[in-house]
Amino acid sequence: MLYKRKERPEGPYDVVVIGSGLAGMTAAKKLGKNGRRVLLLESHNKLGGFATWFRRKQGEHIFDVSLHGFPIGMKKTCRKYWTKEIADSIKQVNKVRFINPQYDLESDFTKEDFTEKLVGHFDVPRETVEAFFNHLANMNFYDDDGMTNGELFRKYFGDRNDITRFLLEPIVYANGSTLEDPAISYGIVFSNFMSKGVYIYRGGTDKLIGLMKEDLLETGVDIKLHAFVEEIVVEGDVTRGVRLKDGTFIEAKSVVSNANLHNTIFKMVGKEKWAPDYVEAARKVRLNTSSCQVFMGLAPGESIPDMGELIFYSEDKEFSTDALLSPKVGSQTFSLYYPNTRPAVEGDGRGDRYAVVSSSNARYEDWKDLSEAEYKERKEYNIERALSCLDKVIPGTRKKINYVDASTPLTVEKYTHHKGGASFGTKFEGLPISMGMHKEIKGLFHAGSVGIIMSGWLGAANYGVIQSHEVDNYLDKIDTQKTTENQLGL
Ligand SMILES: Cc1cc2nc3c(=O)[nH]c(=O)nc-3n(C[C@H](O)[C@H](O)[C@H](O)COP(=O)(O)OP(=O)(O)OC[C@H]3O[C@@H](n4cnc5c(N)ncnc54)[C@H](O)[C@@H]3O)c2cc1C
Repeated sequence: MLYKRKERPEGPYDVVVIGSGLAGMTAAKKLGKNGRRVLLLESHNKLGGFATWFRRKQGEHIFDVSLHGFPIGMKKTCRKYWTKEIADSIKQVNKVRFINPQYDLESDFTKEDFTEKLVGHFDVPRETVEAFFNHLANMNFYDDDGMTNGELFRKYFGDRNDITRFLLEPIVYANGSTLEDPAISYGIVFSNFMSKGVYIYRGGTDKLIGLMKEDLLETGVDIKLHAFVEEIVVEGDVTRGVRLKDGTFIEAKSVVSNANLHNTIFKMVGKEKWAPDYVEAARKVRLNTSSCQVFMGLAPGESIPDMGELIFYSEDKEFSTDALLSPKVGSQTFSLYYPNTRPAVEGDGRGDRYAVVSSSNARYEDWKDLSEAEYKERKEYNIERALSCLDKVIPGTRKKINYVDASTPLTVEKYTHHKGGASFGTKFEGLPISMGMHKEIKGLFHAGSVGIIMSGWLGAANYGVIQSHEVDNYLDKIDTQKTTENQLGL
């Protein structure tokens, strides 16, 4: 059931899931399907977490926040754990364009095409390209050789900054990887994307999340929106349930937190409840970077030519992590939404509409201490950068735009409660902390963007599945224990 605003859910539940990001929702769906009594709590007024959208000008414009591209694996995950209808709307992005001072190229983002570009355009021997792709294909989480992305590129391509840019820039936007991050996090994600190109959900994020919500309710999962969890209640080393901001206690045998890893450990549970070495290791987990976006809506009747759906645009002479994160916004990705990306819905009065979203990576620290005037000025700077650069890519577009707004790392933090406005959870070291949480406190699990690999739409959804298996095992174990105790009359 979908609880109304004033209704209070009544435990005990088998599982309470805190947060409805793709990991939280997929875990809730899987556990509900397995017959568990599940409650999904979300602090926001809609499901989806980062997989979100918003309307402006009385619904005339709809903007997608994180629908830019994901690997083909999302289709399989949606078919297996959600519905065929959802999976069938996942379609390939037809063209990806790269425009920067080092090259102007178009690709379908497949391994074959990247190989041809590396050999034909960048003049790399074919054997080197094949050796590089083989290296990536053989990478796995359990055999990390400690190499960084920078070292990996140097090994195969020497100091070719243009090649580093070609290979890494799209992944920076996909999961926040930098040259200094472990090569394993890049390798796994890049190999995923390279299998068959980049995909998006045709129909818009609102349609996808609407279908997921319907499916959750049909599966029997209870949902409560506007429900901010303040505390995960732990007695000794066992999870007992959660307490909402209004004081309501909801009893549960297990809890899955889809909230930020740091918030889960330090805010919702509290450092005194964990073993000192776990707290120490968790404290050292670095957050990933944040994002800025500019949302541009075209006026009714206006259009843009087919330029593909993703344009990696940069005016920075060379690729570097610093330049990519700089408030100067030398680099940004344009996502182009045509009427076939987001078809007109009968009765909503919008008709065929076009929109463009610019995304750039950013540091929370560059935004957090600004005065109101400085914040406004920097937002306006970002808007101007996006409009002027877009006009260079597609001349004449600027004057067709009748709505524009910008988001910053503080917007990300406000809507998702992610510490530091982190767009992709934590750096690599967050993964063992997240996966090991239930070994520290019985019945408490974490499923959400961590360790670069488990972030992005596909990574998050798959992590929800992985953690739902752990929850199932735990519930089976405690149920068996209870039955035995009852049989023995204990
Ligand atoms: C600008 C941007 C663009 C992106 N583009 C892409 C892309 O093109 N492709 C891609 O694959 N990925 C993209 N991503 C990343 C992707 O969207 C995320 O990695 C993924 O959606 C995260 O899912 P999650 O399950 O970790 O949870 P999140 O989406 O982080 O959701 C967590 C949820 O928990 C809720 N919550 C937190 N604390 C509490 C609490 N105490 N009580 C109740 N609820 C709580 C939050 O409100 C939120 O709804 C992008 C991200 C950003 C920011």
